[in-house]
Amino acid sequence: MELYKENKLKIYNSLSKSKELFKPLVEGRVGMYVCGPTVYSNVHLGNIRTFMSFDMVYRYLLHLGYKVRYVRNITDAGHLENDADEGEDRIAKKARLEQIEPMEVVQRYVVDFHNVTNKYNFLPPSIEPTATGHIVEQIEMIKEIVKKGLAYEVNGSVYFDVLKYNETNRYGILSGRTIEDAIHNTRALDGQSDKKNPQDFALWKKADERHIMRWPSPWSDGFPGWHLECSVMSSKYLGEQFDIHGGGMDLKFPHHECEIAQSKTCSGVSPVNYWMHANMLLLNGQKMAKSTGNFVLPNDILTGNNDVLPKDFGVGVVRFFIMQAHYRSILDFSGEALLASEKGYKKLIEAINLLDDVEASSESTFNVKEWRQKCYDAMNDDFNTPILISHLFEAVKFINQLKDDKATISKDDLVLLKSTINAFVFDVLGLVNDVEEHSSDKLDGVVELLIKLRKQARENKDWALSDQIRDELLEKGIQLKDGREGTTYSIN
Ligand SMILES: [Zn+2]
Repeated sequence: MELYKENKLKIYNSLSKSKELFKPLVEGRVGMYVCGPTVYSNVHLGNIRTFMSFDMVYRYLLHLGYKVRYVRNITDAGHLENDADEGEDRIAKKARLEQIEPMEVVQRYVVDFHNVTNKYNFLPPSIEPTATGHIVEQIEMIKEIVKKGLAYEVNGSVYFDVLKYNETNRYGILSGRTIEDAIHNTRALDGQSDKKNPQDFALWKKADERHIMRWPSPWSDGFPGWHLECSVMSSKYLGEQFDIHGGGMDLKFPHHECEIAQSKTCSGVSPVNYWMHANMLLLNGQKMAKSTGNFVLPNDILTGNNDVLPKDFGVGVVRFFIMQAHYRSILDFSGEALLASEKGYKKLIEAINLLDDVEASSESTFNVKEWRQKCYDAMNDDFNTPILISHLFEAVKFINQLKDDKATISKDDLVLLKSTINAFVFDVLGLVNDVEEHSSDKLDGVVELLIKLRKQARENKDWALSDQIRDELLEKGIQLKDGREGTTYSIN
């Protein structure tokens, strides 16, 4: 269904700092690039929030009927410490500390990243290219920039000439930073740099003896600068100009600014039509940091294995909680807030489950069409998921009235209500229907425990206790059945 034809989607463009009507370059098709993780440690919860925001964007574009090519890269080389041009490669450093191959580091944390994104019900991107898989293309792009006169070589390293670029373009167009700001950002780290000007950034770095991740190039054995891979891979898979580029707010400068400069130098056109940035995540009102203990890994939220949250939470609850904030707002992650979300999430899922038992009447006491349009209007307004969720709860209220015979719904409206709420909750927000499963899992565990205790009682010839367990369970509607394979139970 080409729902995009009747939906006027507006996207907040970080470049123009305003909401703009979304018009893809090719009708019905969207090219979207999102900066992926640097795989040198377990994926950070803040990054998961960013990727979940773009998972939701991807899901809504698909729901609207767009054919989307979604590219999210894996940075497995070239990302130096402090996001600067000096210092050690993050992956090589980890490899040195743990005495393993850099590619073992990459493999371990790519697997971790995919585990987490699978658990959290992310749709996989269409292409997930790696920096090390595109060294040849990166060298080609550097040659092109050198040819255009906007890069220079010093001692085997190649730097982008920001001042020269800024003569005919505006470096800082996205972040609003000036050339002077850029100097401030880099000066402290630039003690031994070969750069002509401190705001220049590396396209290729010559590797010193210590640096084990290296490739041959016309300039030296070395490695590409971090910003280059995204220009290379986005243009390779999406073209010189494409629709949406996303990432975390912290990537606006210098990373995305440098991407624009590199790409525009090669193609002559501004590479991205809509820049989108997801805001940051706090934990208990503070920045997350391992060093202070104010830290939790995405997996440990699900298992409860952490010191900062009161209990374990299901995937549906965590996704629901994150979607309750707009992607451009700061999100404060806390146990209290998650507990509140858990209640709301259960209400929502239980109402959806109730819909299966609703019987249609001749008339509706709720305007389903109008409600449906309000859901679309919320999402069309720069993916406003908190407003969407508030509309979903109007439907929850109505469904509960239906259950109590305080409202009625026609057959057509019932079909429309079901399909709409399912589409928004499961396809667009990516929530999972795990409420019942979650509680029945727990019941299972408790009854199995009682069966085990009863078996022990019988082995000890404590017939009174054994009968008490069986009888009291039966009173509560749980019947134990002793068979050759052991004891099973059924709920009456
Ligand atoms: Zn990037």
